[in-house]
Amino acid sequence: MDWTRHRVMVTGAGKGIGHATALMLANRGAKVIALSRSAADLDELSAKVRCETICVELAETAKIADAIQPALPVDMLVNCAGTTVLQSFVESELAEFDRVMKVNAIAPMVLSQVVVRDWLARGVKGAIVNVSSDAARRGVVNHTAYCASKAALDAMTRVMAAELGPAGIRVNSVNPTVTLTPMGKLAWSDPSKAEPLKARIPLSRFLDPNEVAEAILFLLSEEASMITGISLPVDGGLSIS
Ligand code: NDP
Repeated sequence: MDWTRHRVMVTGAGKGIGHATALMLANRGAKVIALSRSAADLDELSAKVRCETICVELAETAKIADAIQPALPVDMLVNCAGTTVLQSFVESELAEFDRVMKVNAIAPMVLSQVVVRDWLARGVKGAIVNVSSDAARRGVVNHTAYCASKAALDAMTRVMAAELGPAGIRVNSVNPTVTLTPMGKLAWSDPSKAEPLKARIPLSRFLDPNEVAEAILFLLSEEASMITGISLPVDGGLSIS
């Protein structure tokens, strides 16, 4: 894949999987538009590699279209920014459920709508990867909002693939299990919590962010030209164990 001809927008590029994806794309020659909400992270990224940056809070749905419009056109989009809240089902608060849904499901929808409208107008056969989670298929205790938002993202991925396929636009998701990002390390550093899950993973370990980034780049690339509508487990085999 020759990335040098492609402009790729990556959300959540300030930390973790989005950061690894933005770096990998830039180092392979793509023109990266990095979106996040902490300006310091974006400054740090643009000091490492050449990229454009957009600083926006994705929970503020009404601001998204105006924020990304100046960065168009792009050829590819990675919806990676994500958030969570730890609340039991019975104690889940509507405001928190709403915030998680806004960042994890509604923002990818709005971002994709803006980008896809431009592609349809120009006849561009673009590709989108949504960063979902193994939680989309599982019932993870204290993760009502997160599981619901990622299941919504997978469902939306399938609808987008079905509707946009005839225009040559591909849409897939990746579904990682625990990945050692700042967020992942914080949540899974306690061995009494981590070891039982690792024991269920055939490859017996958690992921490095670059291993998710490689899967994202594959699904974006021309090598995946007949793959659309899938939710790809990147989980060391957890989903079959
Ligand atoms: P991190 O918390 O390490 O990084 C998330 C990035 O997204 C940060 O740059 C963060 O900015 C940005 N972001 C979060 N919320 C917003 C927002 N409202 N508006 C704009 N930017 C925002 O997360 P990970 O890299 O671990 O996760 C990336 C994606 O992968 C998420 O969608 C997550 O659900 C998914 N995932 C992660 C797994 C894991 O174990 N880590 C496993 C499975 C899926 P800031 O730091 O300023 O908040």
